[in-house]
Amino acid sequence: MTLLKWFAPRRALKKRRAASAAPFAARAAAILAFSLTPPALADSASRRAPAPAAPAAESRYNEEAVKTFLKEIGDQASKKGVSRDLVNRVFKDFRPDPKVIAADERQAEFVLPLGRYIATRVSERQIARGREEMTRHARLLQETERRYGVDRHILLAIWGMETNFGTHQGDYDVAHALGTLAMGERRRAFAYEQLLALLAILQENPSLIPLRGSWAGAIGHVQFIPTSYARYAIDADGDGKRDLAHSLADAFGSAANYLASFGWRADRSWGFEAKLPKDFSYALAEERLYRPLSEWGALGVRDMKGEPLQGETPASLILPAGHLGPAFLTTKNFEALLRYNRAYAYALSVGHLADRLRGGKPFAASWEKADKELLPPEKLRLLQTYLSEQGFDTGGADGMAGRKTRAAIRAYQKKRDLPQDGYPSLSLLRAIRAEKRDKP
Ligand code: CA
Repeated sequence: MTLLKWFAPRRALKKRRAASAAPFAARAAAILAFSLTPPALADSASRRAPAPAAPAAESRYNEEAVKTFLKEIGDQASKKGVSRDLVNRVFKDFRPDPKVIAADERQAEFVLPLGRYIATRVSERQIARGREEMTRHARLLQETERRYGVDRHILLAIWGMETNFGTHQGDYDVAHALGTLAMGERRRAFAYEQLLALLAILQENPSLIPLRGSWAGAIGHVQFIPTSYARYAIDADGDGKRDLAHSLADAFGSAANYLASFGWRADRSWGFEAKLPKDFSYALAEERLYRPLSEWGALGVRDMKGEPLQGETPASLILPAGHLGPAFLTTKNFEALLRYNRAYAYALSVGHLADRLRGGKPFAASWEKADKELLPPEKLRLLQTYLSEQGFDTGGADGMAGRKTRAAIRAYQKKRDLPQDGYPSLSLLRAIRAEKRDKP
């Protein structure tokens, strides 16, 4: 589960930024240095475990600190019904892992433009590979489809996006990786919460020890973090174990169960690319601003074949890279994908890869102009600062295009008679900077 922060300008992200674990980054990382969020971070009802106060940095990982940490985690786990024996077994020979510390510190704020990201993730090679896997696992996919109402193309796309079809599940001992993070600072609360959930899973099924996964705690074929594993994983193959690392049936079933739990419905797609009329009012493009397809049709919106839109399916229009890039009409299934990972880049890649596996065409509109408009987080912070100086409330310069920032941008665009797409573009930063120079 990947997350390009400002492709996922969602309120919840702000709250959860600390928990942004970027397991995907650990794999695909070289290309995409990340801001990616962990899988199924979505667990909205989850509660943070109270993390004990952090020790000073220099002593953070020494032997004394390890002892203290193990005692604390043992105490907390036993309150949740996990035995000391199990904790001792899981943490036998535990040492904080420098590779995990380094991976956590490497979290640069760097992101690929959306068009290039999707081109990388939904490549001809991935499509060909996905089709092979579709043939290989046809019966299992059919069975999962039948039971959970999530179609095979979506499941394959998630599997492909998360672990390149099971081949990159991560080679860290997840408990030790989370233990290391729990001893650190940045992800302390997140790691404690995940570790406690993980210990409960291992107590339920000790044969999974040592459970392997990403440095940030994502496990198995579809990279569930432990809290999601605890809540949404299922034993689909009926062997008595919920095993997302070794059982593809459990992994598919769990991913499908996860989506179904967040409202996925078999009778609608995630969405589709849309064509807007020339005079379209971009102010209507906002996530979760739903209208029936027929209403979009009446506003002049078409599908890429030029057919008028019909039917009552609620859809919201999004411009993930601003008005210079492609437009999409997205259904509530798209929201379910965003629960898996709160990034447009992720959800669009999954949806598109699924469509391509089904035989669909590449996106029609070009990303080229829009990709050039991408603002890195530090420049977005600058834009937010300039907007605030002019009296537009962005809710703070946090480098993320949340709802308030988008509204502030729209208000500014309206005042300057610009297309009101609410998108933080490079051109917009240039324009507002030029104004600043003109009026010192
Ligand atoms: Ca099983």
